[in-house]
Amino acid sequence: VLEVRDLVKHFPIRRGILRRTVGVLKAVDGVSLELRRGETLGIVGESGCGKSTLARMLTAHERPTSGEVTVLGRSMRDLRGRELRRSRRHIQLIFQDPYGSLDPRMTVADAVREPYDVNPDLAARGERVRRVRELLEVVGLNPDHGDRYPHQLSGGQRQRVGIARALALRPDVLVCDEPVSALDVSVQAQIVNLLEQLREEFRLAYVFIAHDLGVVQHLADRVAVMYLGRVVETGSEADVYGAAAHPYTQALLSAAP
Ligand code: ATP
Ligand code: MG
Repeated sequence: VLEVRDLVKHFPIRRGILRRTVGVLKAVDGVSLELRRGETLGIVGESGCGKSTLARMLTAHERPTSGEVTVLGRSMRDLRGRELRRSRRHIQLIFQDPYGSLDPRMTVADAVREPYDVNPDLAARGERVRRVRELLEVVGLNPDHGDRYPHQLSGGQRQRVGIARALALRPDVLVCDEPVSALDVSVQAQIVNLLEQLREEFRLAYVFIAHDLGVVQHLADRVAVMYLGRVVETGSEADVYGAAAHPYTQALLSAAP
């Protein structure tokens, strides 16, 4: 369902009051990946290795410097504007920060309904209210609390709203960028369980990003290890845990509690 070929993202490094460009930061430096229907790919790596930048390119929130993302056989590379917004409904991002995609001035119900404005043919106007209630229920929120604003919710509840919003367009792939790392431990487990249960229910494929191996260990079918903008190791969960080849993976494994 998802194919990533040679993805690169360079950011200019600027210095001084004139913001002169003094070099390039290779945040993502040639990543290729493949994700099959219903599969979960875990991506792990230390802070700053390029995980979020990669995630944003997968969901077309950021334009690659070079390389290509293909979703359901359709390349996103040359799409612009409305075409792009429509086409990216198949792949949705769950943000690292639970405020993520939520507009502080928008109620929960409006936030979950909004994706239909871009893709109006997915639900008739009159049907959307019912759909929104259904989605809130699916992610474990009280559908009667749709009139609340993001700041009136707990972090875990905000993350659930983000998930409901991502599901509104019936995507095939969810890219979860450290979806629980900003939450306290007891809530983390609840959200992970929810995502696991949704995988079956919505027949989703996941790209599941984490900075350590703990969370992805039992979720992922395959694991890719990122280091300095590159994938340095990829394989089945057993391969990576049992016979890590790259020194970074070995360091990561021995650092695990
Ligand atoms: P973390 O685990 O802390 O979330 P990460 O692996 O998600 O880290 P990224 O957020 O992808 O890392 O950042 C990779 C590198 O790219 C970092 O050095 C970061 O400072 C840089 N970077 C990210 N976004 C931008 C941007 N918009 N402009 C300039 N540099 C950026
Ligand atoms: Mg990140």
